[in-house]
Amino acid sequence: MTELTGGPSLPQERRVVTAIPGPKSLELQARRTAVVAAGVGSTLPVFTTRAGGGVIEDVDGNSLIDFGSGIAVTSVGNSAEAVVRRATAQLADFTHTCFMVTPYEGYVAVCEQLAELTPGDHAKKSALFNSGAEAVENAVKIARVHTKRQAVVVFDHGYHGRTNLTMALTAKNMPYKQGFGPFAPEVYRVPVAYGYRWPTGPENCGPEAAAQAIDQITKQIGADNVAAIIIEPVLGEGGFIEPAKGFLPRIAQFAKDNGIVFVADEIQSGFCRTGQWFACEDEGIVPDLITTAKGIAGGLPLAAVTGRAEIMDSAHPGGLGGTYGGNPVACAAALGAIETMRELDLNAKAKRIEEVMKGRLAAMQEKFPVIGDIRGRGAMIAIELVKDPATKEAHPAAAAALAKACHAEGLLVLTCGTYGNVLRFLPPLVIGEDLLNEGLDIIEAAFAGL
Ligand SMILES: *Cc1c(COP(=O)(O)O)cnc(C)c1O
Repeated sequence: MTELTGGPSLPQERRVVTAIPGPKSLELQARRTAVVAAGVGSTLPVFTTRAGGGVIEDVDGNSLIDFGSGIAVTSVGNSAEAVVRRATAQLADFTHTCFMVTPYEGYVAVCEQLAELTPGDHAKKSALFNSGAEAVENAVKIARVHTKRQAVVVFDHGYHGRTNLTMALTAKNMPYKQGFGPFAPEVYRVPVAYGYRWPTGPENCGPEAAAQAIDQITKQIGADNVAAIIIEPVLGEGGFIEPAKGFLPRIAQFAKDNGIVFVADEIQSGFCRTGQWFACEDEGIVPDLITTAKGIAGGLPLAAVTGRAEIMDSAHPGGLGGTYGGNPVACAAALGAIETMRELDLNAKAKRIEEVMKGRLAAMQEKFPVIGDIRGRGAMIAIELVKDPATKEAHPAAAAALAKACHAEGLLVLTCGTYGNVLRFLPPLVIGEDLLNEGLDIIEAAFAGL
């Protein structure tokens, strides 16, 4: 038998052999605390040795079920075969030339894939970057140079990154913005269709929220001052909010009618995560620009802005780029990740994960009224926790307690939401169904013990 390594060959089992975190993780945590800046947090300080499929193995020999995918990144699983194969070959050939100095095929091939996979059959072009925030910043640059306008419209509960401009675009103060201002100007925030918390109910939410947002844009900014409207088709850090039906098409139409660049930030929701290549397909939206990162490259840092060729070409040569943007190893990994998504039909896998999770969570909601709302699509599923389903008062302490209980049992879960009261589940799309159900058993037991 060949020696087991990480990736798909890692035993797909939960194994808890020490306290979590265990003694070796605690030792490393002490070293870390001495030298790593306190502002860089960790959800769960277990130090990883190997990961693959649906599990993460730690230095103490524990094997955790992974419902996080490193925040929706390892959708194809950690160290997926095609990612390792292609990235390894690329590492041996060359690691960097800078695409802006001497180009290489991998970058072009990734842009070809993006043109093919993103919504719409118009001519498309892309530019590649290193992080999601960088992609969003560049989408703003491109929209501004194209429209010769400055204002950027974003939404309540939106998240777009941690750089100066993207902090301004992000809604939530703590932890993302507190103390880090001043922020970039010409950023305006308008309401989003948050069905669960809409005063007149989810049925009315889509059209009403769209009308409010459009009213604010026209009255407070002036539509012809707006360069871009940027929205996550499923809001990620804000709490996996699916804008109520009708909202996105109305906003996209408003953008079109007013010469505004409509930008879908699919950094978290893209690349099969919601059971479609891109979440905006759900209501037939064709964005002018689309930002991608996270799931695109199986764990290597890569991001992109893709969109209408005439918009993308508005920036003058040399106006876009960066030393590492579209690094050849990251591009090779992306081609491997996309190959895996196609070959394993990970959209179908995401839909199956939704079916299993929503079924189990709906049964839990019957028993545990703290579950106010179950939402999301594909393998981007969340539950919003409330003190009382009638008042919908947020219950962040329950989210924290449940996450802690899950972690102790060897299930990695993440929290999110403007009110910190959302438990979110982002398993790798390649997770086995037995592990998925075992994870849900742990969540159910955690609710029982709340
Ligand atoms: C994570 C995220 C970003 C920022 O990506 P980074 O790679 O962390 O810079 C932007 N937008 C959305 C929707 C995200 O989920």
